Amino acid sequence: MPTSAPSSMSTPLAMPAQAIAPQQILRVEQGLPPLDQLIGQYGQRPLVVAGDQSLGVFQPYLQAFSTTLAVAVATYGQDCSQTSLQRLRQTVANHEADVIIGVGGGKALDAAKLLANQCHCPVITIPTSAATCAAWTALSNLYTETGAFQSDVSLPRCPDLLILDYALVKKAPARTLIAGIGDALAKWYEASISSGQSQDTLTIAAVQQARVLRDILFQKSAAALAEPGSEVWQQVVDATVLMAGVVGGLGGAQCRTVAAHAVHNGLTQLPCTRSSLHGEKVAYGILVQLRLEELLQQNHLAATARHQLLKFYGDIGLPTTLADLSMGDLPLSQLQAAAEFACRPDSDLHYLPFIVTPETLMAAMVSTTAAISPCPGVGVAMAVACCPKDLGRSETIALPENLRTGFCTDEVTP
Ligand SMILES: [Zn+2]
Repeated sequence: MPTSAPSSMSTPLAMPAQAIAPQQILRVEQGLPPLDQLIGQYGQRPLVVAGDQSLGVFQPYLQAFSTTLAVAVATYGQDCSQTSLQRLRQTVANHEADVIIGVGGGKALDAAKLLANQCHCPVITIPTSAATCAAWTALSNLYTETGAFQSDVSLPRCPDLLILDYALVKKAPARTLIAGIGDALAKWYEASISSGQSQDTLTIAAVQQARVLRDILFQKSAAALAEPGSEVWQQVVDATVLMAGVVGGLGGAQCRTVAAHAVHNGLTQLPCTRSSLHGEKVAYGILVQLRLEELLQQNHLAATARHQLLKFYGDIGLPTTLADLSMGDLPLSQLQAAAEFACRPDSDLHYLPFIVTPETLMAAMVSTTAAISPCPGVGVAMAVACCPKDLGRSETIALPENLRTGFCTDEVTP
């Protein structure tokens, strides 16, 4: 038996640390928890970072701990942007804040997490909607002041405390939960592509959890939306806020987003981006990703999966086309700008096992509702013809030469 540890064990962090879960998760079904005691564990001078709308519903919370703790409140502004963070860091300094409380949807929570990391403070997340799993994850998305996606920032740890108060989430519009369902669904469609071949145990666990998450959403979403506040509604909220976070935590950097989020990131570059929610754009992006697999890999399973999703989206009210995202009249130049952003060299879109150009991506973007082709060779040209209204009548896409070959006789040239 060796008397001392092998030298390789003297380096304890041979693998990168993985931020899997918040330190504490508190699920509140009835009444307010003793917030002053809970928050007091982390600091005495909290700074609440919220959106304007969230602050209104959060007032009873504020009253519950503002008598015993020295609370300051700041809004994150238009987006989780460098400008907002700079201003918030100044607020932290002025208030001498020792704990950050993020209150709101994804952008508020992302801003709070990133701010806490920059200021070396603990962070508490209190989601006011089930639109994303941002309350759980060790990740923040950075945007410009006008809402264009810039980059995602990995954080060293998940939040210190997550308070999921169902009464608070129930006050949010149903549309936010629908968007959360879309965002959570993407976990399976993206993780199975980026990590489906992995032999790493935790990554396998993450991918399989993503599949289970998808199945829960398929089974329960319609019932949940029909009866907000019910047990099944709560189960779906748990799926979008908590279980989607588990997938991200277990999968870590190995379990990347792929084309669905890349399409979202591209769409945020357009001026009309603010009329749709993150999860709505991501849900549409899943259809685009599947369409790419059909067009470029002749993947029949992807076509079947896309039609399964189209039915499901129709049942619960997720967008299936650019028109559904209020982008039906998009000029071709803007569609191209979005596609080019999504195809940047460092984009997660390139985790797809085939090469995607902006032109093929545009063709997939305008044909998300195309019928299943009986002929695997029917490709992008056909795709363009399927959805002319999304393209604008007089505009055309220049198709890559390799996609013009091998089509069926019913190929349509725009
Ligand atoms: Zn997302």
